[in-house]
Amino acid sequence: MRTLKLLLLLLLALPAVAFAQGKLNVVATTEDLGSLAREIGGDKVSVTSLARGYQDPHFVDPKPSFILAVSRADVLIVVGRELEIGWLPPLLTSSRNSKIQLGGPGYLDASLNVKILELPTGEITRAMGDVHPLGNPHYWLEPGNGRRIAQAIRDKLSQLSSGNASYFAQRYSDFDTRLAAGEKRWDATMAPYKGTKLVTFHRSWPNFMERWGLDVIGYVEPKPGIPPTPQHTIEVIGEMKRQGAKLIIVEPYFDLKTPQAIANQVGGKVLVLAPSVGGAKEVTDYTQLFEYDVNQLAAALKQVTGK
Ligand SMILES: [Zn+2]
Repeated sequence: MRTLKLLLLLLLALPAVAFAQGKLNVVATTEDLGSLAREIGGDKVSVTSLARGYQDPHFVDPKPSFILAVSRADVLIVVGRELEIGWLPPLLTSSRNSKIQLGGPGYLDASLNVKILELPTGEITRAMGDVHPLGNPHYWLEPGNGRRIAQAIRDKLSQLSSGNASYFAQRYSDFDTRLAAGEKRWDATMAPYKGTKLVTFHRSWPNFMERWGLDVIGYVEPKPGIPPTPQHTIEVIGEMKRQGAKLIIVEPYFDLKTPQAIANQVGGKVLVLAPSVGGAKEVTDYTQLFEYDVNQLAAALKQVTGK
């Protein structure tokens, strides 16, 4: 009986302990958003990322641990633009956590203040087989957008934990400085390859390619989310031959068979890049994502262009 009483007291005290530490529980749907939340939140937050960086973020198998994490979250950061539409809504419902529901004080849609490309015009229907109905949701793959996401995280954390606002502001400022130094390096590395034509598997890279002036002339997928077809593959081979494109970028979660067959036909090369933090073992945070991708891409472009 005595033990039971003690146990009950301990259980009652747990939320108070968590509160006394003052850490906000942040859940991010992807490792990119999780990395940015750590940059800004430092030791005032505890961050959990749901999807792994080597998984296709459109199609994630929710684990039971996801529900637990979301149920305890003070803040939920989502990519938005329906990237998580296939797996996040049931988690939100099961979590029974009112703070982080759509419109709740802890809900942060990271897509609201960033530059979104490929915004659709006209009527949108699922029959188009498109997993990008509200514009391209892979917008984090550009440092300028990363900076805007970091600002939104800073503002949200400061709202919820106003006593730490100057701490978050300082962390943002440090991150901004490091990112700007990175951008100088990445711009210099990519400069020789402006205008180079290439193909990507999925439409993951419009913001990235626009930033560094690369020209994506086709996709291995006939439409976003639709696997390659023989007819479309023949068209891609023809287009690459006509335009002299030699490089095919593939995300780590796609089968290399079709891209490799295309590369063989055009005398080109396949390159797997990391579309997210955690997408390659070297990519442990948001700035490393560009350090890795830019260096890998420049090395491959050097090979195929001879520049
Ligand atoms: Zn996509």
